[in-house]
Amino acid sequence: MGTNQIQLIDQYDRRLNYLRISITDRCNIQCIYCMPRNGISKLRHEDILTYEEILTYEEILRLARIAISLGVDKIRLTGGEPLIRKGICEFIPRLTALAGLREVALTTNGIFLKEKLAKLKTGRIKRINISLDSLHRDRYEKITGYDGLELVLAGIKGAREMGFNPVKINMVVMEGVNDDEILDFARLSLEHPYHIRFIEYMPVSVTSSDIPLRHVPSSLIKEQLGKLGKLVPIPRDIHDGPAERFKFEEAHGEIGFISPLTHHFCPACNRLRLTSSGYLRPCLLSDQEVDLEGPMRNGASDEDLAGIFLKTALTKPHSHHLTSKNSTHLSAKMSSIGG
Ligand code: SAM
Ligand code: SF4
Repeated sequence: MGTNQIQLIDQYDRRLNYLRISITDRCNIQCIYCMPRNGISKLRHEDILTYEEILTYEEILRLARIAISLGVDKIRLTGGEPLIRKGICEFIPRLTALAGLREVALTTNGIFLKEKLAKLKTGRIKRINISLDSLHRDRYEKITGYDGLELVLAGIKGAREMGFNPVKINMVVMEGVNDDEILDFARLSLEHPYHIRFIEYMPVSVTSSDIPLRHVPSSLIKEQLGKLGKLVPIPRDIHDGPAERFKFEEAHGEIGFISPLTHHFCPACNRLRLTSSGYLRPCLLSDQEVDLEGPMRNGASDEDLAGIFLKTALTKPHSHHLTSKNSTHLSAKMSSIGG
């Protein structure tokens, strides 16, 4: 990347070098905090059609190329569930082949992970984050509406054995739902090189829970983890983003905290998000978004689209206003924004 190149820098001097792309807003499970339980049948990848309103792979590649020309060097594929979109394994090597990308990562619920691992590896995916909120089969089914824990665990083990590094396990911690499993998740980092990420639940979507969902502050989780040993902070890397990282002494893996509600989360935010329907979002927790798909389909040039990226970067808010006492109902679903 040339040093005199125009880059995505916001008005608070944050360099936005990380683009998260939601590949589809559809999912094969329905987590209580993300999707309504409205009887949507469990979609398999074969069932997914390419709808006009979602970006085609060609369009995603074009936008990724433009973002890279503006300094983006990391892309994460997310969703909905990215592994259910038809053609994803053929698309990935085309994306990772784009010059200027440092890495392409994937966030998945892990249901189809094991069967796709080999293709993800040859497609040069570097990092895989797997969302898992319970290690108990019944509870997993209660949280997701799907009896899939064994599949997810097999995907996690397979990813480790295939040498993906790191394999991150993201747990959204909810009071009275799964907070009694914090130590069990943390223990996974002792013997295996897993990075366990505790994420504060964010009250931003319609939930399908029987009880009101509440986050558990990261400070309380840290306190509990004291029972397992001493957490040693890991010095921040420029690529870390908003996570705080720790390690138990002698552990093979790591512990991380994403604390959108209780911690200083925004100053380190280096992200832009591209929704499955082609909108660019400067902030996860704000409804502000700018259409790229419309102009692109109406003949905008690469320069025009780069201009939209640059303008949108300048509107990235300083910080979000979500607190433990208020909730923000995002008009777009988390699954189309990509979390
Ligand atoms: N389906 C994939 C998965 O679950 O890994 C990718 C999409 S999902 C929207 C991305 C991440 O957002 C997941 O780790 C999920 O747990 C997280 N997420 C979704 N809704 C959330 C909420 N209300 N609070 C905190 N995290 C949330
Ligand atoms: Fe699907 Fe991921 Fe949302 Fe769960 S968090 S319903 S797996 S998109």
